Amino acid sequence: MRTRKTCPHFRFIRMNRREFINILGITPILYKMTNLNELYKTSQSFPNTEKMPVLFLGHGSPMNAIEENQFVEGFRNTAKTLPKPNAILCISAHWFTKGTKVTAMEMPKTIHDFGGFPQELFDVQYPAKGNPILAKETKELLLPEIVELDEKWGLDHGAWSVIKHLYPEANIPVVQLSIDYTKPAQFHYELAQKLNSLRHKGILIIGSGNIIHNLRLVDFPNFDKDNYGYDWAIEARATINEHLIDGNYKPLIDYENQTKAIQLAIPIPDHYLPLIYTLGLQEKNESLTLFNDKLVAGSLSMTSIKIS
Ligand code: ZN
Repeated sequence: MRTRKTCPHFRFIRMNRREFINILGITPILYKMTNLNELYKTSQSFPNTEKMPVLFLGHGSPMNAIEENQFVEGFRNTAKTLPKPNAILCISAHWFTKGTKVTAMEMPKTIHDFGGFPQELFDVQYPAKGNPILAKETKELLLPEIVELDEKWGLDHGAWSVIKHLYPEANIPVVQLSIDYTKPAQFHYELAQKLNSLRHKGILIIGSGNIIHNLRLVDFPNFDKDNYGYDWAIEARATINEHLIDGNYKPLIDYENQTKAIQLAIPIPDHYLPLIYTLGLQEKNESLTLFNDKLVAGSLSMTSIKIS
């Protein structure tokens, strides 16, 4: 009689659910308490770490990606104060979508989402890996909000132009979370709070935008003038910084109903809302520090934040 040889793979396929659970060393009672999906989720997650700080980075001109200046130095100096992250989750002003999405590809492409800049800037590649596990974990944490796992985006310049100064070797995986433009600031503030547990798993969360960002009023001839802002920009920065330092976030979330100076500072919310994510991640008793706190070209600010 011929004996049929079965390869280990074949045997595995034929194994029933109970046998599989026995191999995993799970008793039937424990199995009732858990399930395979839970087990999968836990084993795929990140280990617990010391708590990671949260950042908001004022990214300003895309040229900051390739220039040497005080802001780039500020990014580098801040990076030196951070524990090494397992991965980065970045909320960039430049991924403004209907609904919330998270990049889920293994290798995100470097997106050059701007025009009219030198070829040198278009030649920049930031080859950090993605992290589909972090993407899935982010999606789960944000439930019941439906978050789309995205395979098309990549890293836009709101992310790579600043992250490249923090981690020039591109050796930390980066995932981006989009901003749902149909939702108010309060929604984003609450959504951010759901991501807090990632901070305890070595995930560095970065909001990237500009607190004061009125592109229509930019004074281009004076772009290199140090700390140059219009009167309304000086006023808006002072008011917003005071709220930030006092931890008084209500008027910052309710930015649409504030002074004329604030309206000029935030004519549209794309560059402002990443700040709201950063603030939503602050825990009680954590301090907030400002850096790169300067105005540029009249109507922009580079003010950046570290919460730890
Ligand atoms: Zn921008």
